[in-house]
Amino acid sequence: MYEAVIGLEVHVQLKTKAKVFCACSTEFGQEPNTQTCPVCLGFPGALPVLNFTALEYAVKVGLALNCSVQEFTKFDRKHYYYPDLPKNFQISQYDLPVAKEGYLDIEVGSGQKRIRIRRVHLEEDAGKLIHRDNISLVDYNRAGQPLLEIVSEPDIRSPQEAYEYLVDLKSIIQYLGVSDCDMEKGTLRCDANISIRHKGASVLGTKSELKNLNSFKAVKDSLEYEAQRQQGLAESGREIIQETRLWDEKSSRTLVMRSKEEAKDYRYFPEPDLPPFIISREKIAQIRQGIPELPKERRSRFQKEYGLSQYDSGILVSLKNNAEYAEERFRIWPDKNKKLVANWLIGPLTAIAAQRNQEIFQLEISPEDFLELIELVEKKQAISNLNGKAVLEEMAKTGKPPSVIIQEKNLSQISDAGSLEKDIDEVIAENASSVNDFKSGKTNALMFLVGQVMKKTKGKANPKVAQDILKRRLSGE
Ligand code: ADP
Ligand code: MG
Ligand code: ZN
Repeated sequence: MYEAVIGLEVHVQLKTKAKVFCACSTEFGQEPNTQTCPVCLGFPGALPVLNFTALEYAVKVGLALNCSVQEFTKFDRKHYYYPDLPKNFQISQYDLPVAKEGYLDIEVGSGQKRIRIRRVHLEEDAGKLIHRDNISLVDYNRAGQPLLEIVSEPDIRSPQEAYEYLVDLKSIIQYLGVSDCDMEKGTLRCDANISIRHKGASVLGTKSELKNLNSFKAVKDSLEYEAQRQQGLAESGREIIQETRLWDEKSSRTLVMRSKEEAKDYRYFPEPDLPPFIISREKIAQIRQGIPELPKERRSRFQKEYGLSQYDSGILVSLKNNAEYAEERFRIWPDKNKKLVANWLIGPLTAIAAQRNQEIFQLEISPEDFLELIELVEKKQAISNLNGKAVLEEMAKTGKPPSVIIQEKNLSQISDAGSLEKDIDEVIAENASSVNDFKSGKTNALMFLVGQVMKKTKGKANPKVAQDILKRRLSGE
């Protein structure tokens, strides 16, 4: 029996206004090479100056990940030659990172599992290469943007755990407000290291490092593929070679990029143009004060304050904006138990948002209208559940209040028995065989007949009332 051993290196771009060692703007989507200066273009003699906000953000992430934040930190040069790196070295951190030895507890099937964080360090991003036909262009707007690298210990034991780790990490960092962590936009990037070993063994196997991962799903899929590939090699007695491999989304395979023999020697040495930095205990305490309620705390609070299940709360808090959107609605819902509201948020509303490729917080439905709809469906039974969902969709589309839509579309639920009698008479007349089935003891036939009433009334009949009448008529007659 083999087990997978996985460690992740995650890069997140920090959301500061200026770059990390110069005053250039970090704004996204500007004309190429318009946000550059002698410092981030690596002109000779230009000197870096540290952006303290970036350092503060790094400390914040370190604290949120339960790291020990270093009072003494310094920067180092990491050398390599590539056109996206104008200085031919990257200012990074080597032996004295901002923070180290933390952890993140993730949820696994059997409970919680602790993934240790090895280090959190601050560095500068490289530029972006754009390949077109047979030319390559370079845009240095990204060069010098602050980047945080978060390295886990090899404590992750399955591709699914890697996925959970990333989801939780992203959520925490978004809550801190220091990065968007959007893999599609490249503000979160991940390299995944994986080896296998006999279950229970204590030594680590030879790892491969997976790159070119463009989504959390790609991280998971590539790790799954790679675990299988390594296991195949091991089982057939072949050697696993330490190498860097690229995930090929199209063929769903990993392909060799380079082996250890070609591995880089970065010739790290201290950055002579920046002094070491001392972050006082007081400053660290002050930054800790500024850490908001994090997803896990909010999840427990939602359970306690609003009577929600752990599962429902977990879904609602994962995205900060969604959590706030939900809470705004919980607050004004008159009942103490907010489960009905949570159900509508997680069920129909999330489905509508997903259809539009959005999150619930982006839907422009006022809290009052939303709650009014829930009340109309769940409490007053003025419209059916099914029509309720249709009304919600219309609300998202038009911004109209539910009562107006119900009136316009004539969707009011028919709950009064008198108005249903005629339709029910017809259904009984038209479905003699089902009626007989019911009378001969096949109780399932009743649900079929209720369905026919719903169909006839275009979903407006109150199914409970229809069922009662049908039952009475069929057994009483
Ligand atoms: P490298 O020097 O190749 O960058 P590191 O020791 O710095 O390797 O570790 C980089 C990442 O790889 C870390 O997240 C670490 O947890 C993970 N890692 C290290 N060794 C292994 C291994 N044998 N199997 C799986 N992951 C590993
Ligand atoms: Mg590495
Ligand atoms: Zn600059």
